[in-house]
Amino acid sequence: MAPVPVPPRLTRPRRPLPAPAPRPPPRVQMAAPPHRAAPGRSGGSGGEGRAEPGRLRGAGSGMMPPGEPQPPAGSMGNLAALAELDEASLLQGLRERFLRQQVYTDVGDILIALNPFQPLQLYGREVSEQYRCHDEGSLPPHIFAVADRAYHAMLGRRGARPQSQCIVISGESGAGKTESTKLLLQHIMNLCKGNSQLEQQILQVNPLLEAFGNAQTVMNDNSSRFGKYIQLRFQNNTVRGAKLSEYLLEKSRVVQHDTGERNFHIFYYMFAGLSSEEKEMYGLLDPSLYRYISGQFGTEDVARRWKQKYQEVCNALDMVGFQEQEQVDMQAILAGVLSLGNVTFEPPESNGSLKMSEASRGWLKAAAGQFGVQEDELLKCLICTMSVTRGEQIQRFHTQQQAEDARDSIAKVAYGRVFGWIVSKINELLAENVDPEVELREIGILDIFGFENFAVNRFEQLCINLANEQLQHFFNHHIFQLEQAAYRAEELSWETITFNNNEPILNLLLAKPLGLLSLLDEQSAFPQATDKTFVDKLNSSFKGNLHFQPARGRVLGFSIIHYAGKVQYTADGFLEKNRDTLPANVRGLFINSITPLLSMLFTATISRTGTLMPHVKAKIVPEADNKFNSTRKQSAGAQFRHSLMVLMERMYSANPHFVRCIKPNSQKEPGVVDNQMLLQQLRYNGLLETIRIRRDGFSWRPSFEEFAERYGILLVKPDVSLNKESCLKILQSTDVTGWICGKSRLFFKYWHQEQLAKYVERLERA
Ligand code: ATP
Ligand code: MG
Repeated sequence: MAPVPVPPRLTRPRRPLPAPAPRPPPRVQMAAPPHRAAPGRSGGSGGEGRAEPGRLRGAGSGMMPPGEPQPPAGSMGNLAALAELDEASLLQGLRERFLRQQVYTDVGDILIALNPFQPLQLYGREVSEQYRCHDEGSLPPHIFAVADRAYHAMLGRRGARPQSQCIVISGESGAGKTESTKLLLQHIMNLCKGNSQLEQQILQVNPLLEAFGNAQTVMNDNSSRFGKYIQLRFQNNTVRGAKLSEYLLEKSRVVQHDTGERNFHIFYYMFAGLSSEEKEMYGLLDPSLYRYISGQFGTEDVARRWKQKYQEVCNALDMVGFQEQEQVDMQAILAGVLSLGNVTFEPPESNGSLKMSEASRGWLKAAAGQFGVQEDELLKCLICTMSVTRGEQIQRFHTQQQAEDARDSIAKVAYGRVFGWIVSKINELLAENVDPEVELREIGILDIFGFENFAVNRFEQLCINLANEQLQHFFNHHIFQLEQAAYRAEELSWETITFNNNEPILNLLLAKPLGLLSLLDEQSAFPQATDKTFVDKLNSSFKGNLHFQPARGRVLGFSIIHYAGKVQYTADGFLEKNRDTLPANVRGLFINSITPLLSMLFTATISRTGTLMPHVKAKIVPEADNKFNSTRKQSAGAQFRHSLMVLMERMYSANPHFVRCIKPNSQKEPGVVDNQMLLQQLRYNGLLETIRIRRDGFSWRPSFEEFAERYGILLVKPDVSLNKESCLKILQSTDVTGWICGKSRLFFKYWHQEQLAKYVERLERA
């Protein structure tokens, strides 16, 4: 291959390594009053002999000792303690708390977090210290309390069996999931204080992920355009490593975004942060010239903030261990993406090849230089498709639309690979250093894109909303199904609490072979199929399905009635996005790039778990590009379904904690509550039902064996039999009340574990 004309290999003088991040200064104490109950309050609603609707008959008796942890009183600190329960009082209570800047509220062991849209003095080091190992219920509800609970439960403290934990954060876009994730990580790192370098690194990779994976949308100025699951891995109480899995980066944003939105942050940060010499070196011109970022640049203030963000990104890149040359290559690729976006075509000349303006030729040349590939090879990928039929190479010219689509798919794939590479480098950095003799346990934190319903909803929104359906199902399963199934199995009298079961929607989307994704795959594998035939197929297959509605009139689309409301999807581009094929000549083009990073990104494959798996590097010559035969890889829908399944398996094997984020208004204003919006979220979150089950139900249900094994110590005698009699003796030796004894297990309120732990602690101290 002849050398590429422009520019020569880019190199950059070394930047000094960043100083370690300073510890945040201590902040003032939080203002919210603790919601500890009055001493002597009786042990919950399941008291003996009561048979109210939706409640169990209790077997436990006695009063709680003064000074012991108790069920929270009927303040709005814990909604599960509310005696009266209706939508209006719930709404009113949450609203009043919010206006007093009490943004956190518990429902039993589930945290409701309202987004304050303003910095609150709630997260300083002192507050984190207060929550460190605090007694449950002794401090106001807080995101740190959730981190604390998960950490101690993972270690098997407070009466729990040592077990991996997962924290599931849900809520619509802009509700505060990512901020909550950061706070959880902050508190957990504060709790473990072990390998401090690793702990710092875990916190410091975030700016990098946000710069490349977040963007401004109409819903949120810092919207995560990918989902992430962070697994913190522990041996005893020390974090040994972490692993990040990313889901479904919204690559289409690289080439297109709606009005009022932006491309990924990194593009703007680069323009604000690079010096004039560096911009020249990367061949970057004035930002207003680039189509993909639509020339959107803000005030000087914004530019200053972006410049600072760029510095943070550079520091994080250094910290993660990206080589200087890799960083240069990466920025050159990003510059290449922007230049490529400015290449446009005009209708073909008589010989069938497309016309290009002088300006477009210039952008093409720039893009080729920035990608380190030959200009004519890049052009070929845009204007024609090469295929080999019966040993003969056939060149098929693109239409203007096809050429512009090819341009956009090259830009998307290049960006997507850079993002995957960053995640895999982060995983290398954070990979665990374990002692093989000690068991490894995890705390997983899930921060996945919120439910979305835009003016135009595409394939990406369908996947995002599917993930949210899965999460809602996970929540329902743990909160309603498991618990109520246990009551039935133990033949306890219980009036079933109904909840909005979204299983039929998941079936509509995921069933095989007749669910929406399967039908999409079936159509995608069929060369003659179009988005229209796909819609026809859906309309005939889902006729009469309560969760599906055909589009009205001649709109090419369909609606799904999701658990969180109806979303109208446009079917435009579904097949193409699902096929997600990378034409062989594009792969060949990039593998042969003289930019080592780009070549590596297309030689390696990135596994679903975010690790780069290099293949033997080979020169690729244009090969058969039969879109349908060469699609040996899975479709985008099938890949997403698979990664969701893996995620769900991980989560089902851990003990869950739930954080439900709520967005109080859509203007992102502090101190403003839109009642209608709040109510809608309370409804689709099933909050009223959740309160009811946490108030009346028994969320901790150990078997006799499990319980006797754990608390046999309270009988202060050797060889306690692991049976019902021992359990009853153990409980009778305490003043714990309000529990129920079933056929094979005991039923406890969410606060009982903490109470029992107190007895164990006291005994151990004695
Ligand atoms: P998306 O699904 O779009 O990623 P999200 O749920 O992750 O949304 P965040 O990015 O966490 O939402 O929050 C949106 C914005 O709300 C933040 O950028 C911040 O301005 C504000 N915010 C969220 N939580 C807090 C908080 N606890 N304190 C102060 N501001 C907050
Ligand atoms: Mg987010």
